[in-house]
Amino acid sequence: MGERCDFLEEISTKRADWIIKVYVVRMWYGPPRPNSSEAGALEIALHDLKGSRIHCTIPKSVVRLFRPILSEGQLYSISSFIVQKNNMWMKCSSLQYRITLLQRSMVVHIPQPLFTFHPFTFRSIASILQEERLDQNFLFDVLAEVIGKEDPKDLVTKQGQESKRLGLLVEDLEKNSISCTLFGSLVDLIQPYLDGDKTEPLIVAFQLFRAKEWNGKISIQSSFDTSNIHINPNIKEAELFKKSLVDSTQGDSCFSSQRISHMSSSSYRSAIDELRKGICKVETIDSVLNASDVGFKWILCTIVDFDVGRNDWFFIACKYCHKKCKKIEERFECDHCRKKAVQVDLRYKLQAYVSDATGSMCVVLWDTEASQIVELSATKVRETYSQVQ
Ligand SMILES: [Zn+2]
Repeated sequence: MGERCDFLEEISTKRADWIIKVYVVRMWYGPPRPNSSEAGALEIALHDLKGSRIHCTIPKSVVRLFRPILSEGQLYSISSFIVQKNNMWMKCSSLQYRITLLQRSMVVHIPQPLFTFHPFTFRSIASILQEERLDQNFLFDVLAEVIGKEDPKDLVTKQGQESKRLGLLVEDLEKNSISCTLFGSLVDLIQPYLDGDKTEPLIVAFQLFRAKEWNGKISIQSSFDTSNIHINPNIKEAELFKKSLVDSTQGDSCFSSQRISHMSSSSYRSAIDELRKGICKVETIDSVLNASDVGFKWILCTIVDFDVGRNDWFFIACKYCHKKCKKIEERFECDHCRKKAVQVDLRYKLQAYVSDATGSMCVVLWDTEASQIVELSATKVRETYSQVQ
């Protein structure tokens, strides 16, 4: 091919006659525009000979022209596009610019591979945990073994769609682990591989995931339809991973009988972790009451009494999002899910009087904590309570 070809890192708004030869790393539909139920534009991550990645947008109006010829893992020659600043909220490319295809753009499939396809740019878990200024809007790939799982939970998105989330604990070759949350269809994709007693390691390439920092804890999570997972992928890196796991267990007759442990909810686990490692400071009630800062505090105390005099130790919550619901006539309306009739549940909002040697105070126990202490759901307690009365 004698035809000219430009590198992605050279692309800028200074010229308009760029010609690029690129692989399609990943294609996904952007979120629908507000007030529209249709999918938005087709978004694509591309990479060139040098391994640079660029973000390409195909606006909804011209998707039908290009979608039939595009496939992930295939090579294309692309020209006559426009170049813009990469102002995407979530970034799959570190380049300053992104490209947008128009009706007149040329996309030609190149059937013979001119260079190697690299679908992933893996980051080590250590590099994510140690990054000085964590960029929570940059997407990257992680290759890791699933070593822990929670039960999937239902949730409702801000757009009011029912979805689900699944918390995992994953570990890479360097034996560093990180919490990883999957949302939506990715939960269904991985679920069959988590059930039963697996003896083979479950190695997953988490593609275009984002890092998230919350309450001082860093985790990774999927981002809308952009992210994907590849289970036991057929790539060199995964083979090496598996081989080193086998090497490290040599001497044992086989892999451990159960490789994926079941975990309770992550907030509970991290609290236990913090206590065990002694990284949290346990304070007295007196020092908490007189503290000048606002933040997460630990106290060791005795529950003296519960305030259940008024009927405000529970509230009526939406079954999906667990937020408080309004009762309108015989229906329950959820503002968060934007639904006029939702199924509801009772959840605790239990006031407890607690004391230690330095003083006493009132704390609110929400549903997760209160049900652990009471060992009954708020609904059950309410039923028993009304029978007694
Ligand atoms: Zn709701």
